[in-house]
Amino acid sequence: MPTLFERIVTGELPGDIVYQDDEITAFRDIEPAAPVHVLVVPNEPVATANDLEERHDAVVGRMLRVAAKIARDEGIAESGYRLIVNCNEHGGQEVFHLHLHLVGGRSLGPMLPRPRKG
Ligand code: AMP
Repeated sequence: MPTLFERIVTGELPGDIVYQDDEITAFRDIEPAAPVHVLVVPNEPVATANDLEERHDAVVGRMLRVAAKIARDEGIAESGYRLIVNCNEHGGQEVFHLHLHLVGGRSLGPMLPRPRKG
């Protein structure tokens, strides 16, 4: 079964695609958490960060550079942004096709709420 994101990559499902090449696709998150919220995915599905192998090193590196290019195109490179990869249950991963969240366009606050002391 193709993943949800694979179906967006191939055009079988609609997606607001902002970047695509033969290895990588980026599209706007359907439920944005910030004014800019784009998902950057490898066209060839990898379920989670745990499943990455040496052969994926180049495409994962390019995903970072593509995210930085999109940040520039969206006008948020200078103000700043956050790149997030969620993995499995504790990471809150919902779609099991590796993806990089590019979020920005507002101040995002602390990275994570810290557990209260005492
Ligand atoms: P994660 O929790 O890291 O797996 O993130 C999955 C993300 O995919 C969530 O932010 C969802 O809002 C987003 N999402 C789910 N379905 C779609 C879709 N059809 N098009 C775009 N984004 C989606």
